[in-house]
Amino acid sequence: MHDSTRCVHRPEVSLEGFDSLSVPTYRASTIVYPNTESFSRRKERGADGYAYGLYGTPTTRTLEAQITALHHGVRTHLVPSGLAAVTMPMIALLGPGDEVMIPDTVYGPVRAFCADFLAQRGIHHRVYDPLIGGRIGDLIKGNTRLVWVESPGSGSMEVQDLPAIAREAKARGALVGCDNTWASPLLCKPLDLGADIVAEALTKYVGGHSDLLLGSITVRDMELRTRIRDVLRLLGIGVSPDEAALALRGIETMSVRLRHIGGVAERLAHRLREHPAAMKVLHPALPECPGHEHWVRDFQGASGVFSVALKPEALERLDDALGQLSIFAIGASWGGTRSLIAPLSLGSERSITSASTLAGPVVRISVGVEDEEDIQNDLQVFFDSLLHDPASRGPLVIRC
Ligand SMILES: *Cc1c(COP(=O)(O)O)cnc(C)c1O
Repeated sequence: MHDSTRCVHRPEVSLEGFDSLSVPTYRASTIVYPNTESFSRRKERGADGYAYGLYGTPTTRTLEAQITALHHGVRTHLVPSGLAAVTMPMIALLGPGDEVMIPDTVYGPVRAFCADFLAQRGIHHRVYDPLIGGRIGDLIKGNTRLVWVESPGSGSMEVQDLPAIAREAKARGALVGCDNTWASPLLCKPLDLGADIVAEALTKYVGGHSDLLLGSITVRDMELRTRIRDVLRLLGIGVSPDEAALALRGIETMSVRLRHIGGVAERLAHRLREHPAAMKVLHPALPECPGHEHWVRDFQGASGVFSVALKPEALERLDDALGQLSIFAIGASWGGTRSLIAPLSLGSERSITSASTLAGPVVRISVGVEDEEDIQNDLQVFFDSLLHDPASRGPLVIRC
């Protein structure tokens, strides 16, 4: 054998006795077959077998199996982002003439996807009040194929009555999908509450370190799995084993991170309620949070993201107050180790006036794993400076 060949055809080493605790990162486009017979029959390996790197590697399958188990589902498919975890089931399950219903508080880009992508393909969408609960039955029409739920709602934190919505949707032949990113499977299991599909941005708490983008779609039955998987296949959607390996590492510490983050966030929410710059603290654990009773019933706790609606006069000081923060960084996305804050302009994104409609400025807070006292002191400086009177420029607004 010449050296150039030897460079490519490396010697095999034994794996015997090598029992590592980590999941190997299997990178592959090609998968080789022992003979032509098995190559020509590769399709028979089925959706759970290995045929080509795009359709899964032991690394991605391990993460999928772990999320499936946490959600009490039957299968999970990884997709390249949380947004794709929401849009892919819609693309797979809806056809021309069909309708999807989305809550007014849906993750912003999903609304744009419905208006700018689905609509052009003859797929309708209708926005509903996230607090509608079982009354959604009156709105579901013959062509409503999917009712989308996101709980708590992006930015304004309304907790939806998923069991009631699922019951009404099911009675009328519509499927229910739920974006469970805020809770993660540790704090809520939508499939147990009646949903057919759970979408999550693993980018957030599973990844946990602000360094990866990944989404998951978990389903409750094999028929749905096949319908979604076939479309992912046709579109060529797969994920990198490197992303999956980072998520496999992140998920190991998710429960301890969430315990710290959730506890700190809940205590902060209670304290900030008393601050004169805060008009309303929107945290599901507070009784005044719309849908609080559903959170008590359906969730095992709270994660670290909540919002504070500020008094209208705070708007002109917001930019300068944000400049005072030293522990918190200003940025979109959340769920990492660093505490983040983002000013939101929710009013412009909403189309339904409900009990929870907020007119003034809102800041979204995502608690990180820093020390509680440091986080608290930093926020204290921020809220206090909303009350002072420095020369101000226009506020900075970031989309969620
Ligand atoms: C962040 C987020 C997404 C999108 O996740 P990406 O991985 O950033 O695409 C979807 N839904 C919710 C509720 C989110 O917070």
